[in-house]
Amino acid sequence: MRFSGLRVLKEGLTGNKGWSPHWRDPAPKAEYDIVIIGGGGHGLATAFYLAKEHGLTNVAVLEKGYLGGGNVGRNTTIVRANYGLPGNSEFYSHSLKLWEGMEDELNYNVMHSQRGIINLFHSDGARDAAARRGNAMVNQGDDAILLDRDGVRKLLPYLDHDNIRFPIYGGLYHPRGGTARHDAVAWGYARGADQRGVDLIQNCEVTGIDIEGGRVTGVQTSRGAIRAKKVGIVVAGRSGLVAGMAGMRLPIESHVLQAFVTEGLKPVIDHVVTFGMGHFYISQSDKGGLVFGGDLDFYASYAARGNLPMQEHVMEAAMTLMPIIGKARLLRSWGGIMDMSPDGSPIIDKTGIEGLYLNCGWCYGGFKAVPGSGFSFAHLIAQDRHHAPAARFRLDRFETGRGLMDEEGTGAQHNLH
Ligand SMILES: Cc1cc2nc3c(=O)[nH]c(=O)nc-3n(C[C@H](O)[C@H](O)[C@H](O)COP(=O)(O)OP(=O)(O)OC[C@H]3O[C@@H](n4cnc5c(N)ncnc54)[C@H](O)[C@@H]3O)c2cc1C
Repeated sequence: MRFSGLRVLKEGLTGNKGWSPHWRDPAPKAEYDIVIIGGGGHGLATAFYLAKEHGLTNVAVLEKGYLGGGNVGRNTTIVRANYGLPGNSEFYSHSLKLWEGMEDELNYNVMHSQRGIINLFHSDGARDAAARRGNAMVNQGDDAILLDRDGVRKLLPYLDHDNIRFPIYGGLYHPRGGTARHDAVAWGYARGADQRGVDLIQNCEVTGIDIEGGRVTGVQTSRGAIRAKKVGIVVAGRSGLVAGMAGMRLPIESHVLQAFVTEGLKPVIDHVVTFGMGHFYISQSDKGGLVFGGDLDFYASYAARGNLPMQEHVMEAAMTLMPIIGKARLLRSWGGIMDMSPDGSPIIDKTGIEGLYLNCGWCYGGFKAVPGSGFSFAHLIAQDRHHAPAARFRLDRFETGRGLMDEEGTGAQHNLH
């Protein structure tokens, strides 16, 4: 089934009776060439690119819940390529290019909207840091514009520009950044993988990883044992638990991150705006809700819900930056479990176990990484060598100390990145 404007029109006029399910619901086979653990954005994109780029279709994605029920459907949908450090810079640049072709590639409307991102700064020192980051982005071939006070005032007139404590000095503008409809990204990759023959198996929790003579041979699941020549772990906030099934102890802590949405309002915010001093960011969804968030809850947890102190903290930051938000009514809040690495950068690598591969450590920035991560992880699994843009995401950097990518410069503390 292909989507097109004509098809939508025809179905709309004939009672929407001609649509078929987006993917099959197969029973797990006894054996696959490749098993991907985790049906989030990264797992589904990996399966899609294994099939599309490498012709590998004897593949299963095993998901303990339903597709898109994890962080891929819980994030605040920001997509950007505004990293400054080598390693991250080329990876996110590649990922953004994949975003720009995603809707054609998947024949799926993921509502990718390049509305631009503005990172505000509030001191001379922060302006220097923004200029340095902007130069790194331009060197990488991406777009960055340093805005002065008037430039920000013109684009974002609704902010409190002269706040006594945090006056706005300017902003780093990334016009190709923006947002996308998060769960549509999961559905689009799922549909694309399924169409190429990948089995997407929901309600199938991996409970054990089988290893013989230092080589992976399959997995144990809530729906029985499945043999596999290669296994990829892509389970975001559960990375430590699943890697533990293979006897590995990862340098990952799982922390809660919350987000919030207001009732639907008329268009007021055209961009994505981040408030560095208060750790607050905001955009407006196509339905009109103001979507915003702040920092981690700071304690390690596997509970996908937050707490009131952080809610209060985020609301305070919101009111500091844009007092007009006080008139909006909050509709709901939710939380997700973040796989925080010690340097705030991800891991895409082989493990010490032959045939077992690892993809994790996306912290709270993994949504924008979905296409790039899937592409690079598929490359690694299929060819047993790193894909160039993700070549620095090595696991052993936490053992040797070489190649750390501490983008925030906050040191080796997981919850500060
Ligand atoms: C509130 C919030 C806001 C965010 N905002 C942004 C943002 O604006 N921009 C951005 O780039 N990123 C953002 N993120 C981060 C981003 O959502 C994540 O980094 C990314 O989604 C993680 O990768 P994933 O999609 O594969 O994870 P998930 O969707 O969580 O996928 C992992 C899957 O593995 C499954 N699983 C776990 N254990 C097992 C098992 N034993 N067996 C089988 N399956 C298993 C889970 O059920 C889950 O479906 C945000 C996250 C949150 C929570």
